[in-house]
Amino acid sequence: MSQLLYLDHNATTPIDPDVRDAMLPWLENEFGNPSSVYSLGRRAAAALNSAREQVASLVGARASEIIFNSCGTEATNTAILSAIAIDPDKRHIITSSVEHSATIKLCEYLATRGYEITWLPVDSGGQLDPDKLETSITNDTAVVSLLWANNETGILFPVEEIAAITTRKKVHLHLDAVQAAGKVPINLEELGVQYVSLSAHKLYAPKGVGALYVNRRARFTPLFRGSQEESKRGGTQNVASIVAFGKAAELAEAHLLMAAERIAKLRDRFEQDLLTMIEGVRRNGTDEPRLPNTSNLTFTGIEAETALLLFDKEGLCCSAGSACSSGSINPSHVLTAMGVTRDEARSSLRFSLGRTTTDADIDRALEIIPRIIAKLRALQPMGGSPVRMNA
Ligand code: PLP
Repeated sequence: MSQLLYLDHNATTPIDPDVRDAMLPWLENEFGNPSSVYSLGRRAAAALNSAREQVASLVGARASEIIFNSCGTEATNTAILSAIAIDPDKRHIITSSVEHSATIKLCEYLATRGYEITWLPVDSGGQLDPDKLETSITNDTAVVSLLWANNETGILFPVEEIAAITTRKKVHLHLDAVQAAGKVPINLEELGVQYVSLSAHKLYAPKGVGALYVNRRARFTPLFRGSQEESKRGGTQNVASIVAFGKAAELAEAHLLMAAERIAKLRDRFEQDLLTMIEGVRRNGTDEPRLPNTSNLTFTGIEAETALLLFDKEGLCCSAGSACSSGSINPSHVLTAMGVTRDEARSSLRFSLGRTTTDADIDRALEIIPRIIAKLRALQPMGGSPVRMNA
């Protein structure tokens, strides 16, 4: 079995040892229900509050604006459904054609319930035109829901401009910051956004825990009714995982700028070397503004799904499109929305680096990838001989 070379941090991240240590007591002796009045319960409630402070600090929010829940997908569903429940007469939702499935699937469902959905296009670099957003907003618009950072390409949407538009037009804004949090600085206090989705497992904490930021001035309708989380999200809290989320947020905040700079350097070396070493390679999405850790590349003439299998034999983990679509033969909706052909999209791979990625990892990846791509091209010539696009 080859040693693991994990370049898929946008899919999920390994649990940081300090995060694991922080959560362990809450899986052992500290098992109290945070709603219980005796000290065992009160300690759990205090732990939730500390975690709330830590998560709030990472995104420049107040602790009272953080509602813990089960995942980023729940946060996104809650935000959009809250906005449309608040203004039931408004039947129009604006989103983009490159969103995560959490948003897409909900909007597709709402379309079957009579909502009109505007799917804003992106350009060939993966970028959104704020003017198109502005002209799409009508008196009937209930909510605008957009990514902060794209999970497949890492492209950052112009969230300040977007928030300025929705504030001016008095429309609810939800931003999916699941990929952005911990990778780029976020200051929600100054932004003018009502709802923001967060997820712990992209931040070196466990899966199955997330949070929804609800601006203290925003109206909100819960999805799960119950008494917990100030009646904003019913269900006994997952104390150990929330403590882990808090610790992960604290570490992410402490390391953010240095980690981002180091990871961006590694990513740029990785990308530049592949672009020069292999013929027929192209980057998907603009160089900037982009997450520091993400590289999405088309390798002309290969089948990405087969590449994943061969990489796996070498211990290398990366992704074809989003993790959710791995294993399916559909080309990435993000890449096709950017004008990438279906064949090119099927030849595209996403590499996402993380805090534990080293120079030696990149050296190893730069040895494995050209070798496997050459092997694949020899085995499965797709669409004729590759052309050098980045010479
Ligand atoms: N939004 C984005 C941009 C994501 O990348 C993901 C996870 O892949 C999610 C939402 C969903 O988060 P979770 O896995 O916590 O439901």
